[in-house]
Order: sequence, then structure tokens, then C-alpha cells
Amino acid sequence: MTAQLIDGNALSKQLRGAVAQRASALRARGIVPGLAVVLVGENPASQVYVRNKVKACQDNGIHSLLEPYPATMSEAELLARVDALNRDPAIHGILVQLPLPAHIDAQKVIEAISPDKDVDGFHVASAGALMVGQPGFWPCTPYGCMKMLESLNDGKGYELKGKHAVVIGRSNIVGKPMALMLLQKNATVTICHSGTQNLKALTLQADVVVAAVGKRNVLTADMVKPGAVVIDVGMNRNEAGKLCGDVDFEGVKEVAGWITPVPGGVGPMTITMLLVNTLEAAERG
Ligand code: NAP
Repeated sequence: MTAQLIDGNALSKQLRGAVAQRASALRARGIVPGLAVVLVGENPASQVYVRNKVKACQDNGIHSLLEPYPATMSEAELLARVDALNRDPAIHGILVQLPLPAHIDAQKVIEAISPDKDVDGFHVASAGALMVGQPGFWPCTPYGCMKMLESLNDGKGYELKGKHAVVIGRSNIVGKPMALMLLQKNATVTICHSGTQNLKALTLQADVVVAAVGKRNVLTADMVKPGAVVIDVGMNRNEAGKLCGDVDFEGVKEVAGWITPVPGGVGPMTITMLLVNTLEAAERG
């Protein structure tokens, strides 16, 4: 069997088109959706991520304000900047790029962002809203994975009710919220982590596997149930320096029913959902 590809670039294009339309409808009402992107320090990977996010905003009718600061910025200065952005009516979403320099308490900074502008969905209020099923901003990466599942079967969606989903990884930004989102759709969810014994026995039962670990070949063909949906969140480099995921794509695509590639899978969807969240923040006013 050769799996169908879940094309994150194609789905992103479609969803970003809808964002651009909604942004122009807002502009017609005199509201320009605005995202502030705060970058502290010169982490090269963060600089690339931030550039991509800003460009995606510009391409889709969202005003973006990039604020780069030196790594020497103090925690108090950053908190003061977040506070000013919270009160700025032209800014609907605030993103503080992680990781922050070691002398800054990242969680403290995230908690300083107004939940109404928390478009990354990392604030405890956002996590709590997801937990109890209230409206709030969902973290962009797992939200993008859910949109991918919704896009299957020619847009009719993948029926999660009663299915077994295995999430490998339990970070606060990917694994845990992913598990909650799947649970909300009535899947039976297993969360795995570095201490999980016999991962293969669990993944072999799974109708959906989401790998969010950060290690190559965590999921190989012998670990996948035929026809399963495989979503690869991981971002790693192979020996040749090429971007690759957590899944052994070449092997697993022969067993799975659907599979996301890396690159061109979850990565573009993460940025797309940031645009969606920012637009929603602007629409909520
Ligand atoms: P993280 O905070 O490092 O979490 C990794 C998780 O993997 C942890 O829960 C860890 O378990 C678990 N783990 C480690 N080794 C394992 C193993 N051998 N078997 C099973 N579980 C194992 O990472 P993250 O921030 O969630 O990110 C995960 C990956 O996704 C990274 O490659 C990251 O770059 C990528 N990512 C991609 C996007 C995107 O847009 N495409 C967005 C975010 C993240 P413990 O909890 O027990 O330590």
C-alpha cells in the first residue's frame, strides 16, 4: 500500500486564502488585523521562524510588527513591552518567539500576555480553555494537525469517534494539547513519552499516530497498523543536513493510509494557524 500524502502546503494555501478574504472584510470595516512578533536575541533558527511568520502575515492581509531585541534585554524590559502591546489597540495578537535567553523566565512572559491576544495558545488560560472545551486560542501546531485530519476524505474529514489515537510526545505546546483536541473529537487517546514501555505495541493498535518527539525514526513501518493516519510533527536534520521528521517516511508510507511529509506537512500548517488565530483575535475585537 502507498499512503496518500497529506499536503500541508496545499492545505495551507487554501486556508490562507480564506484568511486573506476575512482580513480584507475586516479592513473594509476599518479594522486592520495586527500581530506583534517579539524576538529576543539572535538564535538563527528563531530568526528564520520569525521571518516566515512575518512574511505569511504580509502575504495575507495581516499587519505584522516585528520587534527584535538584543539578548541582553532584561526580563523586566520584556514584561513592560508585553504590557504595552497588551494595551495597543492596533495589535490583536502577540507572539513572543521561544526559546528566550536563559535569564528570562519564559512562562512568566507567556502569562503576561493577555489571553485575548495569546495567538500562540500557550497561556494557562488558553490551556485551561482547551481542557474544559471553552472558546480560546488553540496552540498552532496541534491545531494545524487537527485541520489536516479535517481535510481528509475530500474535505469530509476523518471520523475520529471511537478511533484510537496515539500521540508520541507530551510537551505543553504539542503533545498534550494534541491529545486533548483528539479527545474532544471522541477519539480514545494514548499519550506516550520517553518512559513509555513497548511503544510499538501501542502504535500498532493506533488508527492515528502523531509523532512529536524530535528524534529521527521514532516511528518505523513495523510499528504502524495498515491504513493508519500518520502525522509527523518532528523537525530534525539527517546526516546530509536535510530537514526530516520523526517518522521513517519511506518505510511508513508503504503501510499507512495517509501520511504527512517533512518538509511540507505540519510546518506550514503551524504558521497558517497562527494567521487564523490572529484573524480570530481581530474579529473578536
Ligand atoms: P519536547 O518538548 O522536547 O518534547 C519531546 C517529547 O518526546 C517529550 O515528551 C519526550 O518525553 C518524548 N520523547 C523523547 N524521546 C522519546 C522516545 N524515544 N519515545 C517516545 N517519546 C519520546 O519537544 P516539542 O517541543 O514537543 O517538539 C517535538 C518535535 O516537534 C521537535 O522536533 C520540534 O522541532 C517539532 N516541532 C515542530 C513544529 C512544526 O511546526 N512543525 C512545531 C513545534 C515543534 P519526556 O516528556 O518523557 O521527556
